[in-house]
Amino acid sequence: MVALPKNGVIMKIEIKNAKLSDGSSQDVLIENGLIVAALSGAADVSIDGSRYLVTPALIDPHAHLRVPGQEEKETLETGLMAAVAGGYGSVVSMPNTSPAVDEPELVQKLIRDAEALGLARLFPSAALTRGREGKLLSDAAALKAAGAVMLTDDGGTNEDAGVLRRGLEYAHALGLVVSVHAEDASLRGDGVINEGHTSEHLGLPGNPVAAEAARIARDLEICALTGSRLHVQHLSSARGLALVREAKTRGLPVTCEVAPHHLTLTDTLFASERFYCDPVLKVAPPLRSQSDCLALLEGLRDGTVDCIGTDHAPHTTAEKQRDMLEAPFGIANIEITFPLLYTRFVETGKLELSKLLELMTSGATNMLGWTAPTLEIGSVADIAIFDLNTTKTVDSKTFKTKARFDSPWQGEALRGWAVCTIVRGKIAFDSR
Ligand SMILES: [Zn+2]
Repeated sequence: MVALPKNGVIMKIEIKNAKLSDGSSQDVLIENGLIVAALSGAADVSIDGSRYLVTPALIDPHAHLRVPGQEEKETLETGLMAAVAGGYGSVVSMPNTSPAVDEPELVQKLIRDAEALGLARLFPSAALTRGREGKLLSDAAALKAAGAVMLTDDGGTNEDAGVLRRGLEYAHALGLVVSVHAEDASLRGDGVINEGHTSEHLGLPGNPVAAEAARIARDLEICALTGSRLHVQHLSSARGLALVREAKTRGLPVTCEVAPHHLTLTDTLFASERFYCDPVLKVAPPLRSQSDCLALLEGLRDGTVDCIGTDHAPHTTAEKQRDMLEAPFGIANIEITFPLLYTRFVETGKLELSKLLELMTSGATNMLGWTAPTLEIGSVADIAIFDLNTTKTVDSKTFKTKARFDSPWQGEALRGWAVCTIVRGKIAFDSR
């Protein structure tokens, strides 16, 4: 660990010979929160960047920080510590908390409390409807003025299409993106895993791909009707992806994200010896088939997928130790998303490093209508430094998140671990 000055603030940082994603090297100099051409004096901290990959810090468009009201699962401090430990400098939090983030005061408090921590930047999304009930629209203008960056009822499924239409129209007028958890609730039923051979074999209630595809098809029609920006969250199936791809070719203003577990895990694992009916794999939407995983990877490559959202969803160990029917949906993954995808896809030649970084940085800013982050002079100094050479195995017991239940990737040897994350020009995480 680097010794911090007494006030905990590092003003001048130099990263010498920083290795960039395109293979080139440059010095990256940081002062007063910005990337500068020259420091005004000696650096407080000097980092040998030649050993590492240096990139704009990652941006997560979809994480559950559980605040307010579910602090037994995660707090802002543990969630944002986990984020910077994963190389993330910014996180968009989901509003399915208790109460739901549907009032401007709640948005303001989240931003204030997160800023006081000095970890990753927090950009709250707010509920599209009051209490996320899908019935009455929340006050989008007031929520935006308070700092909400997106509207979503994530977890809820916006069953009333007319309400979603009006929500999209208001959001459009305000320049806000609406993101949807695209599952038809009646088709999903009480499904806890993907509907298919494995669900039948195990006798568990299935959630069919049709639940996702049917809802995406409906929402794309509403997107076309309103001309409003629609973002499809945590897309899980080849069929859902094909619908988004086709809508993009028609020029609809739609974007989508994929989560790391849908890219790397399949429903057949539930029948394996290691994960037999194990709720650590229980997520919403559910893990699908190998062909869905491959289609989603193709979606990363061909640009159909705009960004990778972790859908980091912490729960207590006791909750995740209930049985398959009772345990909550969600995996804690924000600390390992980059090393997991780097090791599985970049090292194996399936995905370019620059593409992976684009999906984890500018993909989110483009989706939100923001300027893409860069390492150019004058840019804000939100920077992640990754070690692509050192192998470390996943051990959820060492996670910063409160959710230290067994990781689906427990014991997997990965490279690409974050060693240092700089946010607002200050070192927010350092494991060198
Ligand atoms: Zn969701």
